[in-house]
Amino acid sequence: MLEKVLIANRGEIALRVLRACKELGIKTVAVHSTADRDLKHVRLADEAVCIGPPPSAQSYLNVPSIISVAELTNADGIHPGYGFLSENADFAEQVEKSGFTFIGPTADTIRLMGDKVSAKQQMQRTGVPTVPGSEGALPDDPDEVIRIARDIGFPVIVKAAAGGGGRGMRVVHNEEVLLSSIQVTQSEAQAAFGSPVVYMEKFLQRPRHVEIQVLADGQGNAVHLGDRDCSLQRRHQKVIEEAPAPGIDDALRNEIGDACVRACLDMGYRGAGTFEFLFEDNGFYFIEMNTRVQVEHPVTEMISGVDIVREQLLIAGGAPLSIKQEDVSLKGHSIECRINAEDPRTFMPSPGTIKTFHAPGGHGVRVDSHVYSGYTVPPHYDSLIGKLITFADTREAALIKMRQALDELVVDGIRTNAALHRELVTDSSFMAGGVSIHYLESKLEHER
Ligand code: ADP
Repeated sequence: MLEKVLIANRGEIALRVLRACKELGIKTVAVHSTADRDLKHVRLADEAVCIGPPPSAQSYLNVPSIISVAELTNADGIHPGYGFLSENADFAEQVEKSGFTFIGPTADTIRLMGDKVSAKQQMQRTGVPTVPGSEGALPDDPDEVIRIARDIGFPVIVKAAAGGGGRGMRVVHNEEVLLSSIQVTQSEAQAAFGSPVVYMEKFLQRPRHVEIQVLADGQGNAVHLGDRDCSLQRRHQKVIEEAPAPGIDDALRNEIGDACVRACLDMGYRGAGTFEFLFEDNGFYFIEMNTRVQVEHPVTEMISGVDIVREQLLIAGGAPLSIKQEDVSLKGHSIECRINAEDPRTFMPSPGTIKTFHAPGGHGVRVDSHVYSGYTVPPHYDSLIGKLITFADTREAALIKMRQALDELVVDGIRTNAALHRELVTDSSFMAGGVSIHYLESKLEHER
């Protein structure tokens, strides 16, 4: 069992990790930038150390500082949260080389899944369905490339193997522009990610984003906790998530979940992880794996009763997985709205001091947030100020609770996207369930 965990993150996820540590009797070390002295988890941690000025590169991404603090405070584990260093294989490696436990998979696994070509090949080995496309990286021979594209059928999408954050991708609609598009994507990939390797796959026109949550202990045990639908997105950023994904039957969900479990066992996966899929015409197509806890993990916790962060901590401490697949029973429906400090119409960030904050509450309402009345949202980081999560027997009831929760929420002093959420939870297409990843952007375009 871990005794003291350094939380290498900020905001709501740092608080989430701190709470799980406290419940397990694990001591906590908060590291923070000079802009973040007033964060709730910094106040609640057993120890807090300032690691640098506001820019992330000099604080939350400052690996030598973080590792020095772990040494100074005698921490034994480091939890990276999401974002920042959470999917940085070199960081995971350095943490372990310095004698600490990285709360996540091994550096090798992060590397394997961080390269989209090797990740896709790993999935194919274990029967996880992938988007039809090139077998690995695209070859140099132009005739061969054209043949591959014809086999796949236009439109195709050219993607950088090392890409991330929705960048390094280009949709190609016809053969005339294929080779030039590949060239541009290659040079962009080289410039942005330091590798020109690209691959090609079928461009799905109206997919949903559906993902599977897994937990594995690296000791031969793994489970899946069902799926989540995160199709409501703007610029590849998720806005609302829910579990289970509406309209997908249990047999298919379990079939994909089992394939993900097999993939975990095959690669010796350790910790929490998410397999992301595009879902179209009742088919799942793997796009990538996130080797960390995700923002939207609470909706799965609500329907499964499994505390995902607690499991991460126990697994990292060397315990075998506490649950078997047959123990997992998914009940009810859960929805999460991401509350951002941003203008609901222009989406411009809106940092500043929150004069009054009232969180909603009641049966089936969960609020994961680090903010409070008088807290100042700094301008340097992600605009997420909290997550409203509701849980009920049915999707309809969870939506009713979300409307009520949004009505109760008060954030005065800064702008938030709560008004957008209020609109979305009464939107007839969203209410019907199963909208595609393009739905939100096209709705916004029509209305503005
Ligand atoms: P990243 O690591 O940059 O997030 P992903 O591979 O997860 O890249 O893809 C990001 C987004 O790009 C997807 O959520 C989807 O909107 C779009 N996308 C990726 N591959 C395809 C595809 N084959 N067909 C249609 N859209 C795609």
